[in-house]
Amino acid sequence: MTALRQQEAGQIALVPTMGALHEGHLTLVRRARAEADHVIASIFVNPKQFGPNEDLDAYPRQLAADAAMLEAEGVALLWAPTVEEMYPAGFVTNISVAGVSEGLCGAARPGHFDGVATVVCKLFNQVQPDMAFFGEKDFQQLAVIRAMARDLDLSLPHVSNIIGVPTVREADGLAMSSRNRYLSPEQREQAAALPRAMRAAIAAIEGDAKVAGALAELEAAIIAAGFSSVDYAVLADSTSLAPLAVLGDAPARLLVAARIGGTRLIDNMAVNRTDENR
Ligand code: AMP
Repeated sequence: MTALRQQEAGQIALVPTMGALHEGHLTLVRRARAEADHVIASIFVNPKQFGPNEDLDAYPRQLAADAAMLEAEGVALLWAPTVEEMYPAGFVTNISVAGVSEGLCGAARPGHFDGVATVVCKLFNQVQPDMAFFGEKDFQQLAVIRAMARDLDLSLPHVSNIIGVPTVREADGLAMSSRNRYLSPEQREQAAALPRAMRAAIAAIEGDAKVAGALAELEAAIIAAGFSSVDYAVLADSTSLAPLAVLGDAPARLLVAARIGGTRLIDNMAVNRTDENR
């Protein structure tokens, strides 16, 4: 990476991933290629962002296949450190971003966003990219990383060059995720109820329905479709992620985490205040 930075002129983009690549990841890579001269992708299944009862060991790993996909997309360098390289003996530092990391997935997964912030800060320092690309699929993660970059005065990349990319979806609307491969064929079909119910809730809220009622209907619809539980279904301010009881003028987001069988799926979509409900 140092050689790439010293020898090659031009802008370097970083696309951090945990591997098991799909079209969502490849879309980030293509966006990065369009905006930078060289793209570095990283693959690191980060133990610090998994809880003790989560799927760290089961998380899909397919480094050779991922490397081939990245090469075919024109990625200049794949950075795939080992756990020992990332966290050598004696590693003691933790980056904790308050506020945006506390609700939603932060409440359900204690320590998760500390793990994310710490590893992303390390990846930024290792690669020193001019810009970095993250999916809106992990909307809270993007907010946490932006807050970290702003608060710690990071310059490579500067917070203004942390770029969010819209969620890539399957034909039936399900957001692409490495965890979708945990779903049985029946669960995979049932899972499409999540984006469907989210769109219905957004239409209701944009049409001036009560937020609490629309969210309750969303929860009931996905449970009826086969989901086992809902971690949260929240209308939130798009910037602070603070929950909203009513849709105001500021940009808002609908965020949901729900379980189907043993698999936890997350999704989020923009909610717009339309002229009719002004
Ligand atoms: P992961 O490998 O799940 O940590 O994801 C690596 C990056 O890809 C993160 O910035 C994710 O937000 C992004 N990503 C994952 N799934 C999607 C998707 N369906 N659409 C867009 N970006 C995604």
